[in-house]
Amino acid sequence: MTHLLHRSIHTPPRRAVSASGISFTDDKGQTYIDASGGAAVSCLGHAHPEVIAALHAQLDKLAYAHTGFFTTDVAEELAAHLIADAPEGLSHVYLLSGGSEAVEAALKMARQYFTETGQPQRRHIIARRQSYHGNTLGALAAGGNEWRRAQFKPLLMEAHHIAPCFAYREQQEGETDSDYAARAAGELETKILELGPDTVAAFIAEPVVGATAGAVTAVGDYFKRIRAICDRYGVLLILDEVMCGMGRTGYRYACEYDGIAPDLLTIAKGLGGGFQPIGATLLSRKIFDAFADGSGFFQHGHTYMGHPMAAAAGLAVQQVIARDNLLANVQAMGATLNAQLQATFGQHAHVGDIRGRGLFQAVELVADRDSKAPFDPARKLHAKIKSEAMARGLMVYPMGGTIDGVRGDHVLLAPPFIVTEADLAEITGRLAEAIDAALSE
Ligand code: PMP
Repeated sequence: MTHLLHRSIHTPPRRAVSASGISFTDDKGQTYIDASGGAAVSCLGHAHPEVIAALHAQLDKLAYAHTGFFTTDVAEELAAHLIADAPEGLSHVYLLSGGSEAVEAALKMARQYFTETGQPQRRHIIARRQSYHGNTLGALAAGGNEWRRAQFKPLLMEAHHIAPCFAYREQQEGETDSDYAARAAGELETKILELGPDTVAAFIAEPVVGATAGAVTAVGDYFKRIRAICDRYGVLLILDEVMCGMGRTGYRYACEYDGIAPDLLTIAKGLGGGFQPIGATLLSRKIFDAFADGSGFFQHGHTYMGHPMAAAAGLAVQQVIARDNLLANVQAMGATLNAQLQATFGQHAHVGDIRGRGLFQAVELVADRDSKAPFDPARKLHAKIKSEAMARGLMVYPMGGTIDGVRGDHVLLAPPFIVTEADLAEITGRLAEAIDAALSE
């Protein structure tokens, strides 16, 4: 008997009782390798002693202070740490409790920036069809994942959607990376012109797509072109790094790889590594100045924002990552994981694509490799893979994403930054068994 409303009402999840390093233990004593960090959250693994010590110390000192009355040392220190090597131009941090809150704040900052600077008609938000930006109504409207949106239409705020940059599914035969990047980014310009450039507030995208399609990286100079188009029409660029940021791709901020800086950047999951709920929106000096010179505040706020315990978790996690140079391990183990996936699934009859960056990798399953035809969604292959993997003591993050009406199953891997080559071999081996068991059902 349960009084919790679980995600899946008819199949409540197993009951976790403890976790340490890269594994969980449930109430039956079974252990599970955490190969997805939950949903790309647990970047340091579980029960890290230094993070726990930092949380104890903060709890002893100050557990909560409302931001309407106080700031705190720990929140100030975390903000300084995040800005110290943030993409160029980002100067301030707005601390929140998770990814959807960070995206909501970014969307509202974009709108308020234009009301403060005398362009209130700039209210349109453009996003990509293959994207997920959160489940609150504004973030849900921005996201393009139809499966999550369908029941709530019409949404409070309608966003406009363009095609993603998704080479495996959308790059044409013979089209160079550069031509494809130009074509995909060109959709943004077309949409801005269609809506009227002086009505568009912002474009939002994930530098590496996470939950919707699984570790999809852009090709060529796609994001440089996106930045240039936003600049040409005075549109703000919001990069949603809730899932791919904070070192997950081997770069602290995923957009470092693309060589661009956004006007607004959202982070969450890996920021606090799951030790506390925390998210943040980083904003540029230009936006900060518009608020400072205008009304003098950002018209927003949540009771738990800037929570000292959350900030303490974020600060401790980020300090350990920096001190132990864990991003070097993310890059090295990311390459190892990709090589192991290629060796294991490269010739698999039902694996169409293996992709990702750093410790953010995915395999996409297809009914037919040549036509790239997805499996019938009714088969719920991703759910079967998840349960076969759990039966083998492996946590992975399978999803059936919606890509312009094509529903494809994929498995996302996002193990903690402390994984070793031997851990990855175990993960890949168990995953291969789980996929084959699910396919044979
Ligand atoms: N943006 C992206 C890119 C995400 O992957 C997610 C969560 N999967 C969110 C926003 C929403 O974050 P949260 O679940 O913490 O609200």
